[in-house]
Amino acid sequence: MSLSVLAHREAVGLPDGLMFIDGTWRSGQDDTSWTHKHPATGEEIGSFSVSGVADVDAAVRAARIAFDEGPWPRMRAGERIRLLHGCAATLRDHADELRSLQALDNGVPLSFASVYATSVGAAADVFDHHAGWVDKVGGQTLPAYQGGDHLAMTFREPVGVVAAVLPWNAPFLLFAQKVAPALAAGCTVVVKPSEHATFTVLRMVALLLDAGLPAGVLQVVTGPGEPTGQALISHPGVDKVSFTGSRGIGRKVIEASASTMKRVSLELGGKSPAIVFPDANVDLAGMTAMGMVTMGLSGQACVAHTRALVHRDVYDQFVAATQLLAGMITYGDPFDPSVLASALISERQLDRVLGYIETGVKEGARLVAGGTRGEGDLAAGNFVTPTIFADVDNSMTVAREEIFGPVLVVVPFDDEDEAVRIANDTEYGLGAGLYTTDAARAFRVARKLRAGTIGINGFQVEPHLPFGGFQQSGLGREGGLAAFEAYTELKSVVMPLTEELM
Ligand code: NAD
Repeated sequence: MSLSVLAHREAVGLPDGLMFIDGTWRSGQDDTSWTHKHPATGEEIGSFSVSGVADVDAAVRAARIAFDEGPWPRMRAGERIRLLHGCAATLRDHADELRSLQALDNGVPLSFASVYATSVGAAADVFDHHAGWVDKVGGQTLPAYQGGDHLAMTFREPVGVVAAVLPWNAPFLLFAQKVAPALAAGCTVVVKPSEHATFTVLRMVALLLDAGLPAGVLQVVTGPGEPTGQALISHPGVDKVSFTGSRGIGRKVIEASASTMKRVSLELGGKSPAIVFPDANVDLAGMTAMGMVTMGLSGQACVAHTRALVHRDVYDQFVAATQLLAGMITYGDPFDPSVLASALISERQLDRVLGYIETGVKEGARLVAGGTRGEGDLAAGNFVTPTIFADVDNSMTVAREEIFGPVLVVVPFDDEDEAVRIANDTEYGLGAGLYTTDAARAFRVARKLRAGTIGINGFQVEPHLPFGGFQQSGLGREGGLAAFEAYTELKSVVMPLTEELM
């Protein structure tokens, strides 16, 4: 008997697959639709309307009018703060419903949906956090070079119409990381969810509208990268593109922004290292590293520590700990509370991950766990068993490329300098983990790593901390003040103060 999630569809309820433009829910003008399949079962869950070029144009125009003429950018700070806190409260009130909808949509198990990145609570925290900046971020009053009879000032102005293009893997948090600071800064927004998590985002938007956002402030266009995403990122009426997704599409965003010099923020992939020193709690390090590439999203997490760099003195102990956890990961129906990990999001991603595993074996890495597709009940879904490659050289494909699946590679090192060199020998730079009980070493190495977020003996992402990548992991930061400022332009104003100069 294979798995089925269709029984949950009635209880959870799917939103109509309509886009939201200029205050109304509507179908696409081309009358095309996208059928969404559940990753764990291959069943068709439902379909939604695809926004074509004309729909995207209508959405951007509505956002433009709302920005140029509407109340949002001009609103009293107190009112905007109240509305954004209202968004946070509404999300919290509907957390159970949204969690279930996510399980039905992208297959993130309920058991994992209270862990920060995939939780509704994290999204609500981000709305609350950015509501707090609305009346606290401004410009400066500066001494004028013209002399004391002049006034020099700076202002922070909203950047304008923002296109927010989302991935599928953490739809609550990643929606909030873009939409909350953009709205707080006074921008209007067109969101394009991933085609693999559209229903979740549609429901979230409906809830935020109920919380009182005025018409035109938020629009949602739905559909795959082509035509919907491409039409949005290249639309001349968009002032800024805020994109989270793969490096390849990130490059397209940069290309599409060139003609009108759009502002761009990019949150892309990674090949983050976890460095395990001999004085670490090695079992904890092994369980944590393996947990990050298996539990919840099955390694489909940008910041998963997929490259374990382990000192030779503790190498065997570390590998044994990862193997132990690999044997404990349970897969299946995401509504079953004992299920710990999801399927891969699509058949395409399944083939990609299995292809990398084959390449790893061919290039001489030692497969010590997993490496196979799910069988029996799991055969109709996109499941891959928790996979560990030992004796990996950092030049191998599996150590260099983002696999985005439950695959951990373990690379040995002999001393601290070598560990730092291998950790930084990557085109990415999103995150890193350090496992040691030596505090001086922890900070010394943390300063040397070229990565945006570093965890010492664990890993946390928090709403008030900047999050983003060095090198090809991205451009700019989400989270905290840096994110709010990324949705503003700085303006300088100079004015004479004496009548004869006016
Ligand atoms: P993806 O790049 O395939 O898709 C991301 C979004 O871009 C989707 O909405 C997709 O429809 C859209 N898109 C695709 N082609 C497009 C085009 N030509 N023009 C405009 N939009 C287009 O990524 P994904 O599979 O949804 O997510 C996985 C990737 O996202 C991984 O690389 C992961 O590391 C990265 N990610 C990064 C972060 C971060 O914060 N740094 C967070 C989550 C995921």
